Amino acid sequence: MKILIVENPRPLSIEHYNDVANAPLSASLNSGYALAIAGRAGWDGAYLDLSDCLDDESAMAEMILAEQADMILIHWVYAWGNEHVLRNILHILEKDRHAAIGAFGLFPSFACQPLSDFAPQLDFILVGEFEATLDELLSNYLVKRTIVSIPGLYRAGGEFVRRELIADLSLLPIPDDTGTNCRYPTMNIATGRGCYGDCGFCFINQYYGCSRRRERSVASFLHELEERLKRRPVNSIYFVDPTFIGRDEKRTGRVSEISSILKCKGLPFGFETRVDTIDEELIGKLADNGASSVFLGIESGCEAALKRINKRISRDQITCAVRAVQNSGIFLSVGFIMFEPDSTLSELVENFTLLEELGLLKHHDQTVNMLYHSQIVLYGSRAWLRFAEQGRLIQDERLPFEAGYRFLHADVARVCHAMKTLSCEYFRLMDRLYRTQGIASSDQFACCHARTPPGVDGDKLNRTLKEAFQAFLRLAGMRDVIQFNALEQIFLDELRSCFPV
Ligand code: SF4
Repeated sequence: MKILIVENPRPLSIEHYNDVANAPLSASLNSGYALAIAGRAGWDGAYLDLSDCLDDESAMAEMILAEQADMILIHWVYAWGNEHVLRNILHILEKDRHAAIGAFGLFPSFACQPLSDFAPQLDFILVGEFEATLDELLSNYLVKRTIVSIPGLYRAGGEFVRRELIADLSLLPIPDDTGTNCRYPTMNIATGRGCYGDCGFCFINQYYGCSRRRERSVASFLHELEERLKRRPVNSIYFVDPTFIGRDEKRTGRVSEISSILKCKGLPFGFETRVDTIDEELIGKLADNGASSVFLGIESGCEAALKRINKRISRDQITCAVRAVQNSGIFLSVGFIMFEPDSTLSELVENFTLLEELGLLKHHDQTVNMLYHSQIVLYGSRAWLRFAEQGRLIQDERLPFEAGYRFLHADVARVCHAMKTLSCEYFRLMDRLYRTQGIASSDQFACCHARTPPGVDGDKLNRTLKEAFQAFLRLAGMRDVIQFNALEQIFLDELRSCFPV
């Protein structure tokens, strides 16, 4: 029996350039784990990455059919309004198929019911943590040649029972190295899953069904690392755990031990972690052991907003953590929701002030990300339910699985809209520049992050973004729409003047 794992076509658009930041990095290992589970269950596995595919739908359907698989399992990631492309492919497949077709991943987990209505060709959807469900599904299918109801598996019209989480992550097979991951010299690896936080905008806990962080054994991590290093050349490691450092690190010394292993192998590494896990001594030790980058979700510079999103950290904790990382020499990137839906103008000022104090607005690449992010609302998320209940959800029938929302304060909405327009122009111009240099859009983030391309006046660009934000803030309350629009135009022209003609 043969299973084909397919990445759905998902062309990157300027409007959604940075929305990918909302997908947990751990999702990058989903297809690799699915292939490994299939291999362990006695199935032949094949992989087809259509994520960057620009072929027509018939050609993509033919590529799938050519694999002659018994089961097609789609790792369906948000396609930002292009979901119909895959639906059309499924429609073509339906005429000529003998394979069972299913979907898995974050998006199908949240949207299983509407996705089944949207794409009725799907025989099943694996909801949440999928490995144990897939294992059982494949074993059953070998014997019965049909899909039977099991926990974790959703079928349109059937009863759904959530599956228990995997009790011991150390027993997972080693994921295959597949797709885009293999193009980069950095290898993604997971040492744990889930998070003990409960941030209102986050999808991690909903995906796993609880606020719990689980760790695998250090021995199983080392085994996976050594096996995967035999497969391809790798010059660094990135930990995709939602929070790499646990709350009990002082007692267990776990990440210290993991980092020592990487030091022995001469591999620098990056990771994401919660602000409240950072301590100066530990971060110094990780830096000594080769930590080269860390991502901290600080999200806001305002205590009231931190409370609203249930971040469970304070402004002081943020300041200490950021300073500790900066003093360690580890490259810091941060997640920040400038435009939280209930923000006030004075909260935006607080946000800007903290970012400046912490030196997080020094480079245009970072500044643009800090000054325009708003919350993303995806179908099935808590935010979707909340805004629907409050009558603030703004839906667009062309985008069935995402939505906008009404800000609580119209002046904040105005600043957000102006910054989004400016940021989209920034991304459009960067994209054009990189294309002329022959760098594909999917590689731009990896290749060029925090670098100013030749011909761009980086300092002026950064200054323009910051001045625009402050000017929009000052004038957001005024009634004169024409004057505000004129201000937007001035900064758009200023931004364009930073790029080569
Ligand atoms: S800290 Fe918050 S945003 Fe980050 S993974 Fe945990 S719950 Fe999600």
